[in-house]
Amino acid sequence: MLNKIAEGKTKIVYSSTSSDEVFLKFKDDITALDGEKHNVLPGKGVINAKVSAKIFSLLEEKDIPTHFVKLVDDTTMKVKKLKMIPVEVVCRNVAAGHLVKNYPFFRKGDKLKEPLIEFFLKDDLHHDPLLSEEHLKIFGLMEEKEIENVKRITRRVNEVLREFMEKLGLQLVDFKLEFGRDKEGKLRVGDELNIDCMRLWDLKTGESLDKDVYRKGESLEKVLQTYTKVYKLIVGGEI
Ligand code: 5GP
Repeated sequence: MLNKIAEGKTKIVYSSTSSDEVFLKFKDDITALDGEKHNVLPGKGVINAKVSAKIFSLLEEKDIPTHFVKLVDDTTMKVKKLKMIPVEVVCRNVAAGHLVKNYPFFRKGDKLKEPLIEFFLKDDLHHDPLLSEEHLKIFGLMEEKEIENVKRITRRVNEVLREFMEKLGLQLVDFKLEFGRDKEGKLRVGDELNIDCMRLWDLKTGESLDKDVYRKGESLEKVLQTYTKVYKLIVGGEI
């Protein structure tokens, strides 16, 4: 790892000796409410790095283009350098979170007829506003063809993740992806893929096993217990 290029709420980006690759180091920080709520949860960096590495490997095995290269230590992934698109792509299978809060059509837990894909601008100051496909094109965020490509890849990620989680006894309620373009301009899934960016409910009991436990104000001990439980299911073994 060479120089720090950027630091976000939960990760640090470092340059590498290759101009095409960077390192992503996961911090122990946990945040919610557009960064207004913040704590440090010792061990979370390891959990999120290893869960991300596992899920990215799974997607790569299914020929889904991602930025993942390899896990280099307990908290660091080597990834392909991407020009990130500042858009959060959310895919929902079951109604929860903002879908229930902002619209009158569903109650929490209602299954959607088909997966719903939404776009949000990545901008905490403006509280990540919803973007239509017209917004994406007119704001210069994505071209028509890229939008179609992003939706196709997101649906595929959903199929792979849903099946994987179901086998572990978890229901994949929703998740968030971020995309970037590699040096050839090819779209790849970037950022992270772990318990921070998806809702997982116990298939039998409906218990939340994700960051909602933190959002709802449970103790940090309970939050770490939840993250550890999901880590053991997804990655296997001790941390
Ligand atoms: P909602 O829009 O209901 O708040 O979130 C939908 C899904 O996207 C949830 O799985 C949530 O964790 C994820 N998500 C939405 N916004 C963010 C974000 O800013 N950061 C992360 N890590 N996940 C997000």
